[in-house]
Amino acid sequence: MFLPQVEPPPCADGECLVFSVAERAVDIARGPRPEAGEFLGILDGTPCWAVERTEAGHVDLRRLWSVVDEQTWSVASRAVQLVHWARTHRFCGSCATPTEPSQRERARRCPACGLLAFPRISPAVIVLVERDDGRALLARNVNFPGSMFSCIAGFVDPGETLEEAVVREVREEVGVEVGHLSYVASQPWPFPHSLMVGFRARYRGGDIVCQESEIAEAAWFAPGDLPGIPPAMSIARRLIDDWAQGC
Ligand SMILES: [Zn+2]
Repeated sequence: MFLPQVEPPPCADGECLVFSVAERAVDIARGPRPEAGEFLGILDGTPCWAVERTEAGHVDLRRLWSVVDEQTWSVASRAVQLVHWARTHRFCGSCATPTEPSQRERARRCPACGLLAFPRISPAVIVLVERDDGRALLARNVNFPGSMFSCIAGFVDPGETLEEAVVREVREEVGVEVGHLSYVASQPWPFPHSLMVGFRARYRGGDIVCQESEIAEAAWFAPGDLPGIPPAMSIARRLIDDWAQGC
């Protein structure tokens, strides 16, 4: 079991699990508590730390999915995001003074003007839209590899609720109106620092009109006639699988 924590406990000086991060790649090793780094939490009783490294020998976070268990992968994704955040917030965004780790919370603080920089999390919605005839709307993003189709997804705008973001994204990307939203689950998604919030919604009207800059193709699919869909690690796959299995 993983217990996310900000502050290391007093007993965290024994053997640790050290997640060495080089860009989006990770190496995981047991060892002593590192001199510097971001504390991640406790995994099965073992304190976990994230440290930045530059040497080779790491496994890309996407490929690591098939190498370690899901929980360890989640800790690795936390490590990648926190190391990236610390590296990109070394200077104050307001006055350019070098920042310092805050002693009270997970933040970097400017000693000159007091500005606090917290780890960035960008909420995004993802939705499986169902029609009364049992079909679901899936779309192929212009950036997707091969012929993969997935759910409609997009970032939440400032001042917008999650529900408003779902309705807007579907309308913008495929020209369809949806309603009767229900929350399903969420998933931290470290590419680069999203929190994916998953919904199901019902089709209310409109013909598919793809937003050319985002969507190459979109269509209604029956459960038994699905195109290529995302791998098991993604919440998109969970939304599609739940629907296809009648959950
Ligand atoms: Zn400052």
